[in-house]
Amino acid sequence: MTESRVLTLWNEEGINKEDTAVLRKKSSEVSSPLDKNARESVQTLIDSFLARNDASGLAAPQIGINKRIIIFRNKDCREKGKLRPEDFDVLVNPRITQTRGEKVTMTEGCLSCPEIQVEVSRFPEIKIRALNAQGEKISKRYLDYVARVVQHEIDHLDGKLIVDYEGNLYYPKNKELLFRKIFQEH
Ligand SMILES: [Zn+2]
Repeated sequence: MTESRVLTLWNEEGINKEDTAVLRKKSSEVSSPLDKNARESVQTLIDSFLARNDASGLAAPQIGINKRIIIFRNKDCREKGKLRPEDFDVLVNPRITQTRGEKVTMTEGCLSCPEIQVEVSRFPEIKIRALNAQGEKISKRYLDYVARVVQHEIDHLDGKLIVDYEGNLYYPKNKELLFRKIFQEH
């Protein structure tokens, strides 16, 4: 297992400049068919995701790999337990080809934005084209909570994070000074 640390925009001292540079970069397309290097990146992302049980999804740039690869729980299961291979999807070069319905607003958290929650509006239904972990072309439809997670993870591939959304932002009251400082610098 080669699991990697999850990069964060800030830590207890303030903005994390090196991590932020990676998280804010637009990730590049993976060439098809997947070469050895791409397969290793996919495996590192899977290992990193499976090594923790507190994530709904993870995008490659969050572990320092600026490639368009995401992984996420494919069922609306907010109870975080041990994951079986059928419980998660890996998408390489995911592209949203269709959205349906009115956007729904919910609060989201992100491993790369520790301790905050932000209200974000997302489509309740999306269609995706991508490659799977083996590099085969696939198309999929996702609904509701899972559709939200997929949209969140695809944002990461474009360097976009929940703090970029206009919705209300919540942080622990006892850390007001830290977060005021962070969002002034931001
Ligand atoms: Zn995130």
